Amino acid sequence: KIQQIYEPLNSSTAIALVNRLGLFPENSALTCSEIGDGNLNYVFHIVDAGTGKGIIIKQALPYAKVVGESWPLTLKRAVIEANALKIFGSFCPELVPKVYYSDEQLAITVMEDLSHLKIARTGLIEEEEYPLLSKHIGQYLAKTFFYTSDFFLEPGKKKDFAKQFTNPELCKITEDLVFSDPFFDAETNDFESALRQDAETLWADEKLKLEAAKLKKSFMTEQEVLLHGDLHTGSIFASAEETKVIDPEFAFYGPAGFDLGQYLANLIFQVISRKGSSRENIYAHLKEVWETFEDEFSRLWKEEGKEVYCKTQGYLEYILEKTFTDSLGFAGCELIRRTIGLAHVKDLDSIAHEAERIHAKRTALQLGRALIINRQQEARIESLETIVKDSL
Ligand code: ADP
Ligand code: MG
Ligand code: MG
Ligand code: MG
Repeated sequence: KIQQIYEPLNSSTAIALVNRLGLFPENSALTCSEIGDGNLNYVFHIVDAGTGKGIIIKQALPYAKVVGESWPLTLKRAVIEANALKIFGSFCPELVPKVYYSDEQLAITVMEDLSHLKIARTGLIEEEEYPLLSKHIGQYLAKTFFYTSDFFLEPGKKKDFAKQFTNPELCKITEDLVFSDPFFDAETNDFESALRQDAETLWADEKLKLEAAKLKKSFMTEQEVLLHGDLHTGSIFASAEETKVIDPEFAFYGPAGFDLGQYLANLIFQVISRKGSSRENIYAHLKEVWETFEDEFSRLWKEEGKEVYCKTQGYLEYILEKTFTDSLGFAGCELIRRTIGLAHVKDLDSIAHEAERIHAKRTALQLGRALIINRQQEARIESLETIVKDSL
């Protein structure tokens, strides 16, 4: 084990580190480039020029660059990320990058190089087809939900996990940026001036705000499952054959519908930004992720459920319905916050034609509102497609 105090790596110290760890054959000619696109972390890509084989070192930085300022941000998130990757990888090894090494002092995770894949958001914007993406994400959600829940784990073990994955600083970011700020005239909000009236209407909508308050409370208090915590399409690498879920630094014990809701919302940005028949492909993804999740979770429940009530008539159906309903509400929050909040999505921001872009953003706001307010009445996946189509 390499014990040392924290320092941000650079290309040469990153190469020295993988050499000390013996991750490449001796005397390999290694090159290193920093490929991170975020404001929170370094991502070093180290390649053996001889074989072309690579590895990734992700390192947390002790601050986040947000709205031009530096906010201190705990390095502990690197441990959370490494441990979450290992746990999720133990349930679905084919859907998570392999972790080769992690070090708490350096706040690093050394992992499998996925450079042969593309970030799903980028591919979807280019209208690439990912026939297995939502099937894989449905399986990922079912397994990570079931195997970290009280339906499978001993109560003591689950509470130990929940303690290990206490992640207050990163949860606070979500509480503020997803659940609070977009619903108030907060300084962090960021939107085009053409949307000012829409934003003000939303801030005055007490009916909507009451439901947002309930969803925030659920996020803050319900320790159902170990969540990824940031499962948008920018946290997924994909190809026609493969899917890999990366970047679980926001992992914590929370309500099961949260990850599903973020994924659904980010698919919905694709429905909104696409035109005509290319939308059909995305409706199929919405249906596929839910149906796969439902089938796989039900199978695990029946075959491996440990909770004494697992055989009680109607309980599985109650859990599925609660998860779906919650996910619609969380999807609604994601639609709104990515439109008028601090962190936007390229799906909408890259629409070049101004009137079309503003129209798309209004659609996202209205649909977000409809999902949050009507989530209890729309407890079937078929209703989601209808509600989305009605908003367009
Ligand atoms: P952040 O938490 O800063 O968003 P991510 O884990 O999402 O960091 O990684 C940022 C970018 O670095 C990704 O979008 C991707 O381009 C690249 N990256 C991250 N992990 C890998 C990997 N295992 N293989 C290849 N590229 C990666
Ligand atoms: Mg990023
Ligand atoms: Mg990321
Ligand atoms: Mg991240």
